[in-house]
Amino acid sequence: MHQELLRSASFWRFLFDMDKDLAQICRQEGCSCGGHLHCAHYPRNPRGGGDDLPETYSRRLSFCCDRDGCRKRVTPPSVRFLGRKVYLGAVVILVAAMRQGPTPHRVRELSKLFDADRRTIARWQTFWREHFPQTAFWKVARGRLVPTVEVITLPLALLEAFLRSHDPQEDWGQLLFFLSPMTIAGGLEIEVRR
Ligand SMILES: [Zn+2]
Repeated sequence: MHQELLRSASFWRFLFDMDKDLAQICRQEGCSCGGHLHCAHYPRNPRGGGDDLPETYSRRLSFCCDRDGCRKRVTPPSVRFLGRKVYLGAVVILVAAMRQGPTPHRVRELSKLFDADRRTIARWQTFWREHFPQTAFWKVARGRLVPTVEVITLPLALLEAFLRSHDPQEDWGQLLFFLSPMTIAGGLEIEVRR
């Protein structure tokens, strides 16, 4: 499907540029206390991106308020990292989607392609099937998708909703941008029914 794209350095550079833009917007807004935001990036060691993953992937962009007594941490949304998951967001989507549909790819093949073991892949499937549909993010965001995406076919249905033009890189960018609000603190929390 898209395994070639997700192994190309140019794709990962494209997503890094999007992350830089998201970080820039966040930094310009500053801290809610009125303080300025300084760089305080998190070290990361993401997996699944292949051998040509750019060096910029060793950091998740993040900031810290410069005011004494505040020092609040502000982490912008990301199109690269899916919360605290070790694997890159695009990989977590694609591999789980490739296990769906009428002719699912074999686990062994996907393990080899994306350097993820059987248990990890099973966890991602559970994440999309059981956890993701219950998040506050999804309950609001799904209404913006036309046609409505059925929970039962997540995340394949998301790929089908976004990967529709002749520019898969751009489409992936749109999909990951759509999902980016859930990559910030609390973004994957399950909504508690009151
Ligand atoms: Zn502050």
